[in-house]
Amino acid sequence: MKKQIAILGSTGSIGTQALQVIEEQHELYEVYALTANNRVELLAEQARRFHPEVVVIANPAKYQQLKEALADLPIKVYAGADALCQVVEAGPIDIVLTAMVGFAGLPPTISAIRAGKAIALANKETLVVAGELINALAQEYRVPILPVDSEHSAIFQCLAGEDQNPIEKILLTASGGPFRTCTLEQLAHVTKTQALKHPNWDMGAKITIDSATLMNKGFEVIEAKWLFGVRPEQIEVVVHPQSVIHSAVQFQDGAIKAQLGVPDMRLPIQYAFSYPKRLKASFDRCDLFSIGNLTFEKPDTNRFRCLALAFESLKRGGNMSCIVNAANEIVNRAFLEDRVAFLRMAEIIEETMTKVAFIQKPTYEDYLATDAEARRVAESLI
Ligand code: NDP
Ligand code: MG
Repeated sequence: MKKQIAILGSTGSIGTQALQVIEEQHELYEVYALTANNRVELLAEQARRFHPEVVVIANPAKYQQLKEALADLPIKVYAGADALCQVVEAGPIDIVLTAMVGFAGLPPTISAIRAGKAIALANKETLVVAGELINALAQEYRVPILPVDSEHSAIFQCLAGEDQNPIEKILLTASGGPFRTCTLEQLAHVTKTQALKHPNWDMGAKITIDSATLMNKGFEVIEAKWLFGVRPEQIEVVVHPQSVIHSAVQFQDGAIKAQLGVPDMRLPIQYAFSYPKRLKASFDRCDLFSIGNLTFEKPDTNRFRCLALAFESLKRGGNMSCIVNAANEIVNRAFLEDRVAFLRMAEIIEETMTKVAFIQKPTYEDYLATDAEARRVAESLI
Protein backbone atom coordinates (compact mmCIF):
# COMPACT_ATOMS: atom_id res chain seq x y z
CA MET A 1 0.00 0.00 0.00
CA LYS A 2 1.39 3.38 -1.01
CA LYS A 3 1.38 6.05 1.67
CA GLN A 4 -1.13 8.81 0.93
CA ILE A 5 0.23 12.33 1.28
CA ALA A 6 -1.57 15.66 1.55
CA ILE A 7 0.55 18.73 0.78
CA LEU A 8 -0.60 22.05 2.21
CA GLY A 9 1.14 24.62 0.01
CA SER A 10 2.11 22.39 -2.91
CA THR A 11 2.95 25.32 -5.22
CA GLY A 12 5.67 26.73 -2.95
CA SER A 13 9.36 26.00 -2.59
CA ILE A 14 8.88 23.10 -0.13
CA GLY A 15 5.71 21.90 -1.86
CA THR A 16 7.29 21.58 -5.30
CA GLN A 17 10.35 19.82 -3.87
CA ALA A 18 8.07 17.41 -2.00
CA LEU A 19 6.44 16.55 -5.32
CA GLN A 20 9.89 15.79 -6.75
CA VAL A 21 10.47 13.40 -3.86
CA ILE A 22 7.10 11.72 -4.44
CA GLU A 23 7.85 11.43 -8.16
CA GLU A 24 11.19 9.76 -7.49
CA GLN A 25 9.69 7.48 -4.81
CA HIS A 26 6.45 6.82 -6.70
CA GLU A 27 6.39 3.19 -5.62
CA LEU A 28 6.02 4.26 -1.99
CA TYR A 29 4.03 7.50 -2.03
CA GLU A 30 0.94 8.91 -3.68
CA VAL A 31 -0.57 12.38 -3.58
CA TYR A 32 -4.01 12.53 -1.98
CA ALA A 33 -4.49 16.29 -1.72
CA LEU A 34 -2.79 19.40 -3.09
CA THR A 35 -3.46 22.95 -1.96
CA ALA A 36 -2.36 26.51 -2.81
CA ASN A 37 -3.39 30.06 -2.09
CA ASN A 38 -3.41 31.88 -5.45
CA ARG A 39 -1.34 30.09 -8.06
CA VAL A 40 -4.16 28.31 -9.89
CA GLU A 41 -2.24 27.43 -13.04
CA LEU A 42 0.58 25.69 -11.24
CA LEU A 43 -1.86 23.90 -8.93
CA ALA A 44 -3.89 22.66 -11.92
CA GLU A 45 -0.71 21.51 -13.66
CA GLN A 46 0.35 19.60 -10.53
CA ALA A 47 -3.11 18.04 -10.29
CA ARG A 48 -2.93 16.81 -13.90
CA ARG A 49 0.41 15.25 -13.22
CA PHE A 50 -0.18 13.67 -9.79
CA HIS A 51 -3.93 12.84 -9.93
CA PRO A 52 -4.88 13.74 -6.35
CA GLU A 53 -8.36 12.97 -5.01
CA VAL A 54 -8.85 16.59 -4.07
CA VAL A 55 -7.38 20.05 -4.57
CA VAL A 56 -8.07 23.18 -2.52
CA ILE A 57 -7.42 26.79 -3.37
CA ALA A 58 -7.42 28.90 -0.21
CA ASN A 59 -8.43 32.09 -1.97
CA PRO A 60 -12.16 31.64 -2.81
CA ALA A 61 -11.93 34.20 -5.62
CA LYS A 62 -9.85 31.67 -7.57
CA TYR A 63 -12.30 28.78 -7.24
CA GLN A 64 -14.06 29.15 -10.60
CA GLN A 65 -10.79 29.34 -12.51
CA LEU A 66 -9.48 26.18 -10.83
CA LYS A 67 -12.76 24.33 -11.28
CA GLU A 68 -12.74 25.10 -15.01
CA ALA A 69 -9.08 24.17 -15.39
CA LEU A 70 -9.81 20.69 -14.00
CA ALA A 71 -13.31 20.23 -15.43
CA ASP A 72 -12.33 17.16 -17.48
CA LEU A 73 -10.82 15.29 -14.52
CA PRO A 74 -12.50 13.39 -11.65
CA ILE A 75 -10.80 15.56 -9.02
CA LYS A 76 -12.78 17.23 -6.24
CA VAL A 77 -12.18 20.98 -6.10
CA TYR A 78 -12.78 23.11 -3.01
CA ALA A 79 -11.94 26.66 -1.90
CA GLY A 80 -11.39 28.58 1.32
CA ALA A 81 -9.46 28.27 4.55
CA ASP A 82 -12.10 25.99 6.14
CA ALA A 83 -11.78 23.54 3.25
CA LEU A 84 -8.06 23.20 4.08
CA CYS A 85 -9.02 22.08 7.58
CA GLN A 86 -11.56 19.59 6.21
CA VAL A 87 -9.51 17.90 3.48
CA VAL A 88 -6.66 16.96 5.83
CA GLU A 89 -9.14 14.86 7.84
CA ALA A 90 -9.89 12.47 4.93
CA GLY A 91 -9.60 8.83 5.98
CA PRO A 92 -6.98 7.57 3.51
CA ILE A 93 -4.39 10.29 4.26
CA ASP A 94 -1.32 9.01 6.14
CA ILE A 95 0.91 12.10 6.21
CA VAL A 96 0.12 15.80 6.03
CA LEU A 97 3.05 17.96 4.88
CA THR A 98 2.47 21.46 6.22
CA ALA A 99 4.28 23.63 3.66
CA MET A 100 2.19 26.76 3.71
CA VAL A 101 3.51 30.04 5.07
CA GLY A 102 2.74 31.75 8.36
CA PHE A 103 0.01 31.64 10.99
CA ALA A 104 -2.43 30.34 8.35
CA GLY A 105 -0.79 26.93 8.79
CA LEU A 106 -2.00 26.56 12.39
CA PRO A 107 -5.72 25.67 11.93
CA PRO A 108 -5.22 22.92 9.30
CA THR A 109 -2.31 21.47 11.30
CA ILE A 110 -4.57 21.21 14.34
CA SER A 111 -7.30 19.55 12.24
CA ALA A 112 -4.80 17.05 10.86
CA ILE A 113 -3.54 16.16 14.35
CA ARG A 114 -7.09 15.70 15.62
CA ALA A 115 -7.72 13.38 12.67
CA GLY A 116 -4.69 11.31 13.72
CA LYS A 117 -2.46 12.16 10.74
CA ALA A 118 1.33 12.13 10.96
CA ILE A 119 2.59 15.68 10.49
CA ALA A 120 5.63 16.41 8.34
CA LEU A 121 6.16 19.91 9.63
CA ALA A 122 7.73 22.58 7.42
CA ASN A 123 5.44 25.38 8.63
CA LYS A 124 7.56 26.34 11.64
CA GLU A 125 5.23 29.25 12.45
CA THR A 126 2.78 26.66 13.82
CA LEU A 127 5.22 25.73 16.61
CA VAL A 128 6.36 29.34 17.11
CA VAL A 129 2.78 30.48 17.69
CA ALA A 130 1.40 27.52 19.63
CA GLY A 131 4.11 24.96 20.37
CA GLU A 132 2.70 24.03 23.74
CA LEU A 133 -0.80 23.44 22.37
CA ILE A 134 0.49 21.47 19.36
CA ASN A 135 2.63 19.24 21.58
CA ALA A 136 -0.30 18.57 23.90
CA LEU A 137 -2.56 17.67 20.96
CA ALA A 138 0.09 15.51 19.31
CA GLN A 139 0.45 13.61 22.56
CA GLU A 140 -3.30 13.27 23.05
CA TYR A 141 -3.87 11.97 19.52
CA ARG A 142 -0.58 9.99 19.44
CA VAL A 143 0.58 11.70 16.30
CA PRO A 144 4.25 12.12 15.38
CA ILE A 145 5.53 15.58 14.42
CA LEU A 146 8.32 14.92 11.93
CA PRO A 147 10.57 17.91 11.28
CA VAL A 148 11.20 19.07 7.72
CA ASP A 149 13.20 22.21 8.51
CA SER A 150 16.77 21.20 7.60
CA GLU A 151 18.27 22.03 11.01
CA HIS A 152 15.59 20.14 12.91
CA SER A 153 15.77 17.22 10.54
CA ALA A 154 19.52 17.16 11.20
CA ILE A 155 18.93 17.14 14.96
CA PHE A 156 16.26 14.45 14.55
CA GLN A 157 18.71 12.35 12.53
CA CYS A 158 21.41 12.82 15.20
CA LEU A 159 18.94 11.61 17.84
CA ALA A 160 18.15 8.35 16.03
CA GLY A 161 19.18 5.50 18.33
CA GLU A 162 19.77 7.86 21.29
CA ASP A 163 16.40 7.40 23.06
CA GLN A 164 17.94 6.91 26.48
CA ASN A 165 20.54 9.65 26.15
CA PRO A 166 19.53 13.15 27.18
CA ILE A 167 20.61 16.12 25.07
CA GLU A 168 23.16 18.38 26.74
CA LYS A 169 23.09 21.02 24.04
CA ILE A 170 21.77 21.62 20.54
CA LEU A 171 24.12 23.38 18.13
CA LEU A 172 21.74 25.07 15.72
CA THR A 173 23.66 26.20 12.66
CA ALA A 174 22.85 29.33 10.67
CA SER A 175 24.30 30.50 7.36
CA GLY A 176 24.17 34.10 8.66
CA GLY A 177 22.19 35.16 5.59
CA PRO A 178 23.15 37.66 2.88
CA PHE A 179 24.06 40.42 5.38
CA ARG A 180 26.30 38.42 7.71
CA THR A 181 29.27 40.76 7.26
CA CYS A 182 27.34 44.07 6.98
CA THR A 183 27.85 46.85 9.53
CA LEU A 184 24.84 48.47 11.22
CA GLU A 185 25.30 51.50 8.94
CA GLN A 186 25.12 49.27 5.89
CA LEU A 187 22.13 47.35 7.28
CA ALA A 188 20.20 50.64 7.54
CA HIS A 189 20.18 50.86 3.74
CA VAL A 190 19.87 47.29 2.48
CA THR A 191 17.09 46.61 -0.03
CA LYS A 192 14.64 43.78 -0.54
CA THR A 193 16.43 42.79 -3.74
CA GLN A 194 19.63 42.24 -1.74
CA ALA A 195 17.72 40.48 1.03
CA LEU A 196 16.07 38.10 -1.42
CA LYS A 197 19.46 36.77 -2.56
CA HIS A 198 20.18 34.07 -0.01
CA PRO A 199 23.74 32.75 -0.33
CA ASN A 200 22.96 29.02 0.04
CA TRP A 201 19.23 28.26 -0.11
CA ASP A 202 16.51 28.96 -2.68
CA MET A 203 13.31 29.44 -0.66
CA GLY A 204 10.00 31.34 -0.62
CA ALA A 205 10.13 35.14 -0.17
CA LYS A 206 8.93 35.26 3.44
CA ILE A 207 11.46 32.84 4.87
CA THR A 208 14.22 34.42 2.77
CA ILE A 209 13.59 37.80 4.40
CA ASP A 210 13.37 36.08 7.82
CA SER A 211 16.76 34.53 7.06
CA ALA A 212 18.24 37.96 6.29
CA THR A 213 17.05 39.37 9.65
CA LEU A 214 17.90 36.10 11.49
CA MET A 215 14.28 35.96 12.68
CA ASN A 216 14.20 32.62 10.89
CA LYS A 217 16.94 31.39 13.21
CA GLY A 218 15.07 32.79 16.19
CA PHE A 219 11.97 30.88 15.08
CA GLU A 220 14.09 27.77 14.70
CA VAL A 221 15.28 28.11 18.30
CA ILE A 222 11.62 28.14 19.37
CA GLU A 223 10.84 25.25 17.02
CA ALA A 224 13.73 23.23 18.51
CA LYS A 225 12.49 23.83 22.04
CA TRP A 226 9.07 22.36 21.23
CA LEU A 227 10.31 19.52 19.04
CA PHE A 228 13.09 18.32 21.31
CA GLY A 229 11.98 19.40 24.79
CA VAL A 230 15.10 21.40 25.68
CA ARG A 231 15.44 24.65 27.62
CA PRO A 232 16.36 27.84 25.73
CA GLU A 233 19.82 27.85 27.41
CA GLN A 234 20.50 24.46 25.85
CA ILE A 235 20.23 25.84 22.32
CA GLU A 236 23.29 27.54 20.88
CA VAL A 237 23.13 29.27 17.53
CA VAL A 238 26.33 28.78 15.54
CA VAL A 239 26.90 30.83 12.40
CA HIS A 240 28.35 28.49 9.79
CA PRO A 241 28.39 30.25 6.41
CA GLN A 242 29.01 27.13 4.28
CA SER A 243 25.69 25.47 5.36
CA VAL A 244 27.28 22.01 5.24
CA ILE A 245 26.64 21.04 8.86
CA HIS A 246 22.86 21.29 9.10
CA SER A 247 22.97 21.17 12.92
CA ALA A 248 24.43 19.04 15.70
CA VAL A 249 23.64 17.58 19.10
CA GLN A 250 26.01 17.42 22.07
CA PHE A 251 25.41 14.61 24.57
CA GLN A 252 26.28 14.26 28.25
CA ASP A 253 29.68 12.70 27.56
CA GLY A 254 30.65 15.66 25.39
CA ALA A 255 30.26 13.79 22.12
CA ILE A 256 28.85 15.87 19.28
CA LYS A 257 26.89 14.26 16.46
CA ALA A 258 26.21 16.32 13.36
CA GLN A 259 24.43 15.77 10.07
CA LEU A 260 26.14 17.06 6.94
CA GLY A 261 25.02 17.42 3.37
CA VAL A 262 24.51 19.76 0.43
CA PRO A 263 21.78 22.38 0.93
CA ASP A 264 18.86 20.47 -0.61
CA MET A 265 15.49 20.36 1.14
CA ARG A 266 14.49 17.17 -0.65
CA LEU A 267 16.54 15.12 1.79
CA PRO A 268 14.77 16.34 4.96
CA ILE A 269 11.40 16.16 3.20
CA GLN A 270 12.05 12.56 2.17
CA TYR A 271 13.35 11.62 5.63
CA ALA A 272 10.15 12.97 7.21
CA PHE A 273 8.15 10.75 4.84
CA SER A 274 10.28 7.62 5.23
CA TYR A 275 11.36 7.85 8.91
CA PRO A 276 12.81 5.73 10.44
CA LYS A 277 13.97 4.32 7.10
CA ARG A 278 16.37 5.96 4.70
CA LEU A 279 15.56 5.61 1.02
CA LYS A 280 17.97 5.49 -1.87
CA ALA A 281 17.86 8.87 -3.56
CA SER A 282 19.45 10.68 -6.49
CA PHE A 283 20.27 13.93 -4.63
CA ASP A 284 23.73 15.48 -5.11
CA ARG A 285 26.33 14.12 -2.75
CA CYS A 286 28.41 16.33 -0.51
CA ASP A 287 32.07 16.50 -1.61
CA LEU A 288 34.17 17.50 1.40
CA PHE A 289 37.28 18.11 -0.75
CA SER A 290 35.58 20.74 -2.87
CA ILE A 291 34.16 22.38 0.27
CA GLY A 292 37.63 22.56 1.83
CA ASN A 293 36.91 24.60 4.95
CA LEU A 294 34.14 24.71 7.52
CA THR A 295 34.05 27.86 9.66
CA PHE A 296 32.06 28.94 12.71
CA GLU A 297 31.18 32.30 14.27
CA LYS A 298 29.05 33.57 17.12
CA PRO A 299 25.86 35.37 16.03
CA ASP A 300 25.78 39.14 16.61
CA THR A 301 22.46 40.05 18.22
CA ASN A 302 23.36 43.74 18.14
CA ARG A 303 23.17 43.79 14.38
CA PHE A 304 20.53 41.07 14.21
CA ARG A 305 18.09 42.05 16.97
CA CYS A 306 15.38 39.68 15.77
CA LEU A 307 17.34 36.70 17.05
CA ALA A 308 17.47 38.21 20.54
CA LEU A 309 13.75 39.05 20.43
CA ALA A 310 12.85 35.46 19.57
CA PHE A 311 14.97 34.15 22.48
CA GLU A 312 13.33 36.73 24.74
CA SER A 313 9.84 35.65 23.67
CA LEU A 314 10.69 32.02 24.35
CA LYS A 315 11.86 32.88 27.88
CA ARG A 316 8.70 34.91 28.52
CA GLY A 317 6.49 32.06 27.30
CA GLY A 318 2.68 32.33 27.10
CA ASN A 319 1.49 34.10 23.96
CA MET A 320 4.73 36.13 23.51
CA SER A 321 6.08 34.13 20.57
CA CYS A 322 2.64 34.40 18.94
CA ILE A 323 2.93 38.20 19.26
CA VAL A 324 6.42 38.13 17.75
CA ASN A 325 5.27 35.92 14.87
CA ALA A 326 2.31 38.15 14.00
CA ALA A 327 4.35 41.36 14.16
CA ASN A 328 7.02 39.69 12.08
CA GLU A 329 4.53 38.66 9.39
CA ILE A 330 3.43 42.30 9.15
CA VAL A 331 6.91 43.85 8.96
CA ASN A 332 8.15 41.12 6.64
CA ARG A 333 5.34 41.89 4.17
CA ALA A 334 5.92 45.64 4.60
CA PHE A 335 9.64 45.24 3.86
CA LEU A 336 8.78 43.29 0.69
CA GLU A 337 6.48 46.18 -0.28
CA ASP A 338 9.18 48.81 0.45
CA ARG A 339 7.09 50.26 3.28
CA VAL A 340 9.59 49.73 6.08
CA ALA A 341 13.41 49.84 6.39
CA PHE A 342 15.42 46.75 7.29
CA LEU A 343 16.43 47.77 10.83
CA ARG A 344 13.00 49.18 11.62
CA MET A 345 11.53 45.67 11.46
CA ALA A 346 13.06 44.58 14.79
CA GLU A 347 12.05 47.87 16.44
CA ILE A 348 8.42 47.40 15.46
CA ILE A 349 8.38 43.80 16.68
CA GLU A 350 9.91 44.84 20.01
CA GLU A 351 7.37 47.61 20.47
CA THR A 352 4.50 45.27 19.58
CA MET A 353 5.74 42.89 22.30
CA THR A 354 5.15 45.62 24.89
CA LYS A 355 1.75 46.71 23.55
CA VAL A 356 -0.22 43.48 23.20
CA ALA A 357 -1.73 41.93 26.34
CA PHE A 358 0.43 39.11 27.72
CA ILE A 359 -1.38 35.84 28.47
CA GLN A 360 0.46 33.20 30.48
CA LYS A 361 -1.74 30.21 29.59
CA PRO A 362 -3.30 30.94 26.20
CA THR A 363 -6.12 28.87 24.72
CA TYR A 364 -6.55 28.37 20.97
CA GLU A 365 -8.99 31.31 20.93
CA ASP A 366 -6.41 33.45 22.76
CA TYR A 367 -3.88 32.69 20.04
CA LEU A 368 -6.34 33.80 17.35
CA ALA A 369 -7.10 37.02 19.24
CA THR A 370 -3.42 37.69 20.01
CA ASP A 371 -2.49 37.18 16.36
CA ALA A 372 -5.15 39.65 15.20
CA GLU A 373 -4.25 42.25 17.84
CA ALA A 374 -0.49 42.02 17.26
CA ARG A 375 -1.02 42.44 13.50
CA ARG A 376 -3.11 45.55 14.13
CA VAL A 377 -0.52 47.05 16.51
CA ALA A 378 2.44 46.28 14.24
CA GLU A 379 0.65 47.73 11.20
CA SER A 380 -0.10 50.93 13.15
CA LEU A 381 3.61 51.32 13.94
CA ILE A 382 4.75 51.21 10.30
P1 NDP B 1 6.50 29.57 -0.45
O1 NDP B 1 6.14 31.00 -0.34
O2 NDP B 1 7.45 29.17 -1.52
O3 NDP B 1 5.17 28.68 -0.62
C1 NDP B 1 4.10 28.81 0.25
C2 NDP B 1 2.96 27.90 -0.14
O4 NDP B 1 1.86 28.11 0.74
C3 NDP B 1 2.42 28.14 -1.53
O5 NDP B 1 1.90 26.95 -2.02
C4 NDP B 1 1.32 29.16 -1.27
O6 NDP B 1 0.34 29.19 -2.31
C5 NDP B 1 0.74 28.63 0.02
N1 NDP B 1 0.14 29.65 0.87
C6 NDP B 1 0.65 30.85 1.20
N2 NDP B 1 -0.17 31.52 2.02
C7 NDP B 1 -1.26 30.73 2.20
C8 NDP B 1 -2.48 30.87 2.91
N3 NDP B 1 -2.76 31.98 3.61
N4 NDP B 1 -3.37 29.84 2.88
C9 NDP B 1 -3.11 28.74 2.17
N5 NDP B 1 -1.98 28.56 1.47
C10 NDP B 1 -1.06 29.54 1.48
O7 NDP B 1 7.06 29.12 0.98
P2 NDP B 1 8.16 28.04 1.34
O8 NDP B 1 7.88 26.78 0.62
O9 NDP B 1 9.50 28.64 1.25
O10 NDP B 1 7.90 27.83 2.90
C11 NDP B 1 6.79 27.09 3.40
C12 NDP B 1 6.97 26.85 4.88
O11 NDP B 1 8.10 26.01 5.05
C13 NDP B 1 7.23 28.12 5.69
O12 NDP B 1 6.66 28.00 6.95
C14 NDP B 1 8.76 28.13 5.84
O13 NDP B 1 9.19 28.77 7.00
C15 NDP B 1 9.06 26.63 5.90
N6 NDP B 1 10.40 26.27 5.46
C16 NDP B 1 10.80 26.49 4.18
C17 NDP B 1 12.06 26.15 3.75
C18 NDP B 1 12.47 26.34 2.31
O14 NDP B 1 13.55 25.87 1.94
N7 NDP B 1 11.69 26.96 1.48
C19 NDP B 1 13.04 25.57 4.67
C20 NDP B 1 12.51 25.34 6.00
C21 NDP B 1 11.25 25.69 6.36
P3 NDP B 1 0.54 30.14 -3.62
O15 NDP B 1 1.71 29.56 -4.36
O16 NDP B 1 -0.72 29.97 -4.35
O17 NDP B 1 0.80 31.51 -3.11
MG1 MG C 1 15.91 25.99 8.51
